[in-house]
Amino acid sequence: MARKSIKGSHNRPYAFYDDKLHEQIIKEERIELLMEDALANQEFIVYLQPKVNLMTEQIIGAEALVRWQRPNGKMITPNDFIPLFEKNGFIKQLDFYIYEQVFGYLRKRMDEGKSVVPISVNVSGVHINDEQFVPNLTDLLNQYQIPPRMIELELTESIFIGALDELIKTLNKLKDAGFIFSIDDFGSGYSSLNLLRHLPIDIMKLDKCFFDAANITKITPKEKAVLSNIIRLGKDLDILVLSEGVETKEQADFLREFGCDLAQGYLFARPMPLAEFNLLLEK
Ligand code: C2E
Ligand code: MG
Ligand code: MG
Ligand code: MG
Repeated sequence: MARKSIKGSHNRPYAFYDDKLHEQIIKEERIELLMEDALANQEFIVYLQPKVNLMTEQIIGAEALVRWQRPNGKMITPNDFIPLFEKNGFIKQLDFYIYEQVFGYLRKRMDEGKSVVPISVNVSGVHINDEQFVPNLTDLLNQYQIPPRMIELELTESIFIGALDELIKTLNKLKDAGFIFSIDDFGSGYSSLNLLRHLPIDIMKLDKCFFDAANITKITPKEKAVLSNIIRLGKDLDILVLSEGVETKEQADFLREFGCDLAQGYLFARPMPLAEFNLLLEK
């Protein structure tokens, strides 16, 4: 087993890295032991983060982001478990659990005659080669009687490195079913501009990395050139552009100036529990 060979290598000069790896494996094994029970015990909860129209600053939608609330009150953030769940396959169950929570939330609001906004959910790349994904998702949507235009599917850039033909087929099926699509984390990694021509994308979510360097009262001419041209590309392709991770007024002003339509970030609101989001909507 991997763990044994790592233990046996403690005397080698790379022991530091081995210790780290060992620690990581122990941590992952512990999480794997917990995850099924955590799902059954409803420890995974949905937070919503508002998306705003940059011109009016009105809430035009929200993104569903999972949180893992341990019985001891400790909150675990997605980056600490999503990569592992993608490796061991558990993400398939977890994502569908989140979709069901979101559909149930919308159904309840609509039944009560309360206001709703479209909600986006994250779609792990793991689903794309799963033939059951499209039928399962559309069945769930029908079960809750949610209009598909209320649901935006966020596909992260890294799923676009697989077989393009399969991907195009899957996305077109979902598109025909009426879902809205966005490319998440656009510009952070593998995105090929060419894909924008072939995939039925409605919204580009610009990764917050565009702002990391520009964190910011001064945006350099290079940063300005890159950002403003990506925004223009989106416009020319008839794709809405949303900037993620907007934290300062300067960033928002800059984005407005360059015609970015939508934004999401701590400047406007952090991800929050459903009840809090409802209060915000009703204000
Ligand atoms: P993402 O889909 O790109 O989500 C945006 C992340 O940026 C969220 O982190 C959000 O809390 C954070 N964020 C929002 N505004 C700001 C800001 O102004 N500044 C900074 N620094 N960060 C901001 P979070 O919630 O920790 O989620 C991390 C990633 O985990 C997500 O990135 C997404 O890829 C993944 N994820 C979250 N929930 C789910 C889920 O239900 N299913 C799947 N498959 N992945 C999920
Ligand atoms: Mg996302
Ligand atoms: Mg993102
Ligand atoms: Mg991200």
